[in-house]
Amino acid sequence: MSTTKDRVLARLTDVPGPDGESNIVELGLVSEIVIKDDRVYFAITVPAHRAGELEAMREAAEAAVSGIDGIGTVTAVLTADEAPSSGTNGAAGAAHAPPAGQQPASPIASATGVPGLPGVRHIVAVASGKGGVGKSTTAVNLALGLQALGLKVGIFDADIYGPSQPRLLGLTGQMPHATPDEQKLLPLEAFGLAVMSMGFLIEEDAPVVWRGPMVVQALQQMLYDVAWNHAGDLDVLVIDMPPGTGDVQLTLAQQVPLTGAVIVSTPQDLALIDARKGLNMFRNVDVPVLGIVENMSYFIAPDNGKRWDIFGHGGAEREAERLGLKFLGGVPIHMDIRELSDAGTPVTAVRPDSPEAEVFKEVAARVWSEVQASQGVEAPVIKVSPERDTMRVTYKDGYSYDFTAEFLRVVSPSAEVQGHSAEQRVTVPGKRGVRIRDLKPVGKYAAKITFDDGHDTGLYSWSYLQELGLKKDKLWADYLAELETKGLSRD
Ligand code: ADP
Repeated sequence: MSTTKDRVLARLTDVPGPDGESNIVELGLVSEIVIKDDRVYFAITVPAHRAGELEAMREAAEAAVSGIDGIGTVTAVLTADEAPSSGTNGAAGAAHAPPAGQQPASPIASATGVPGLPGVRHIVAVASGKGGVGKSTTAVNLALGLQALGLKVGIFDADIYGPSQPRLLGLTGQMPHATPDEQKLLPLEAFGLAVMSMGFLIEEDAPVVWRGPMVVQALQQMLYDVAWNHAGDLDVLVIDMPPGTGDVQLTLAQQVPLTGAVIVSTPQDLALIDARKGLNMFRNVDVPVLGIVENMSYFIAPDNGKRWDIFGHGGAEREAERLGLKFLGGVPIHMDIRELSDAGTPVTAVRPDSPEAEVFKEVAARVWSEVQASQGVEAPVIKVSPERDTMRVTYKDGYSYDFTAEFLRVVSPSAEVQGHSAEQRVTVPGKRGVRIRDLKPVGKYAAKITFDDGHDTGLYSWSYLQELGLKKDKLWADYLAELETKGLSRD
């Protein structure tokens, strides 16, 4: 009886190679076949300069294998057969950002000029100069901290050499399903985060022997193959990068449309070369470094809660300043952080009021503030009317928008209101008479509005308010239509 691998290879003999004559198996182009349960991954080696035009061949190969009984998801990636030309293009000489046909309709601008990821507003990479400094732990708790700000957040585990997000989020052994049209993979969900990891497709403990170009191609493909926004657009996608600063990391930094990067370091490494290597890598490819998180910064004694500044106090901040970096915060070394991580229940999710979670939430608020600042929207002047039922927002460029309290309330960016498709969204009826009770700036990027019905979890960033101003009429019409469809009323 033939093995699944044999059947995969047999099907692939139906796919003509780049010469249009021999098939891709005969040409020896198929490699790295990985089969796990009903999922199949394989690579097709192509000349780097032809990767873009051979997208149809890649799709044909996927389709051929999908036809096999009992096979679910099939992912074929193109990998380059040539050494990278030179310069910072690094390992992925063949890289072609999103596969053809998946180009976003209206690319979001990104720091690198790479087309954006559809349905994802910002992508923040969490990187480290070397392994073991707590990069993955920081990435997941940062994602949860961002979520606690009322943002819709996802996490992409790109640490292909040691994917740990499935374990950190208690998702080990689970696997993603395809969307109903079978075009994309649905992210898994944990603690409200949309999660995708190579660990779902390959065994966590299986050694990955893929070559550099293959890794980048596979990661990129996967990033664009996931329906990140199936439950509503993401405000932020956190990427847990592979540790270190080699070709894979460099190429990813260059090929993924990053808003910015956060570097995680321990106090010792900060003073050494490792953190600086990470910093330079991003600077070389023009990705803004949002700042540095110092992990295992100090020790809190579990018995009496006393803080021990083992490495001295304030050194990291001074070092960050010297490197021209924002210091995003120091995370203590604490038993709970490790134990809860190992148990698949990150501290920020399950002990949100603990001092450790507070630290991660502060780091998240600073990261978000830097993300906003990197977008260059300057603080507008905001005036609430004496009746507190309208608000005028005037931007530096002279544009001014009037919003009713009711409108602001129903478009609150808090997760409970936004971030779902029209069918799923929680429609907020009965807000005709709502008033603005209080308005407070948050950092240098947003305002927090408290309404007199008690709602206060939405952060209205300057860029969000601007977006609202531009789309006001359409959003209002959509809301009225939604009320009607759901048989609800403004009163
Ligand atoms: P990296 O992603 O840099 O390899 P991890 O996030 O996997 O590092 O962390 C390495 C180990 O250190 C894990 O066992 C993790 O639970 C532990 N760890 C990380 N940060 C802390 C911390 N602040 N306090 C206690 N343990 C930590």
